[in-house]
Amino acid sequence: MRAVRLQAPGRLEAADLPCPAAPGPGEARVRVHRVGICGTDLHAFGGRQPFFTYPRVLGHELGVEVVAVGAGVALEPGQRAAVEPYLNCGTCIACRSGRPNCCVSLRVLGVHVDGGMTEELVLPARKLHPSARLTLDQLALVETLGIGAHAVARAAVAAGETALVIGAGPIGLATMQFVAAAGARVIALDVNPERLEFCRRQLGVAHVLAATGEVEAALRDLTAGDLPTVVFDATGHPGSMRAAFDYPAAGGRLVFVGLFQGDVTFHDPQFHRRELTLCASRNALPSDFARIIGLIEGGRIDTTPWITHRARLEDLPTAFGPWTRAETGVIKAMVAV
Ligand SMILES: [Zn+2]
Ligand SMILES: [Zn+2]
Repeated sequence: MRAVRLQAPGRLEAADLPCPAAPGPGEARVRVHRVGICGTDLHAFGGRQPFFTYPRVLGHELGVEVVAVGAGVALEPGQRAAVEPYLNCGTCIACRSGRPNCCVSLRVLGVHVDGGMTEELVLPARKLHPSARLTLDQLALVETLGIGAHAVARAAVAAGETALVIGAGPIGLATMQFVAAAGARVIALDVNPERLEFCRRQLGVAHVLAATGEVEAALRDLTAGDLPTVVFDATGHPGSMRAAFDYPAAGGRLVFVGLFQGDVTFHDPQFHRRELTLCASRNALPSDFARIIGLIEGGRIDTTPWITHRARLEDLPTAFGPWTRAETGVIKAMVAV
């Protein structure tokens, strides 16, 4: 079975893997058709993904087709599905409280266990979210969109609110789309003018701010002096995360979608005076996957701006390197298997 494996940082190589066994009870064997590339993959390639072990078959943003099912599985061969790549234990406190996205022993496909840069996989059938209407590309985008959808759900964004999204990379862009789908107004903030232009042109974001200017004053101008009621940080940058405490309105919420492997400090009086609510957002819930598929099917989430680069699996060892460089303008690269 054809595959591409990350042998070590910077070394992505073609590999020949054994075909997976027949699916057991509750499992499905799937043919992988599309693999989306995201920041996690780029960091793993660059050797900057903490706790990452090599060799590893990457790939957690997948558009698949069911080829065989085990006992007790309602799916049928030929059905297409998005994959929820978060393999959870089912018994820990998080799993017992309906939050498998933050399972205490979570294993993510393509990160902690081998993922989808290969022809076939056997997966728990409950991790497959089928759709007869989404294209394979769209199915592979569902996981990325899920990160934004879950962040917006964490903040319970309501219609009529104004939300600031800091960071206009894929996670920020997904967050902006679901803020807009919730009927709230989006303000995008980034250091990169090209990314802000992308938000304006491709996502129809009306208000974009350069992170180099007087951000708080500009936010007050856009909100009749109030400041945004919700702020999302999708940068994973400690300086940005610290500054983000200055931007929510009194009584507002701050959501850290991007993560940083270290300490983030903040000025407590600022946090207390405004009685802010701070939340982390990690991965996405099974219900987020089903909801996103419904929103794409209903035309409420537009996936056309997303895919900027493409490659075939066999070309990946040479195609991948350039995607790690910002100047190539990659938003989402999509691999056909
Ligand atoms: Zn991803
Ligand atoms: Zn668990």
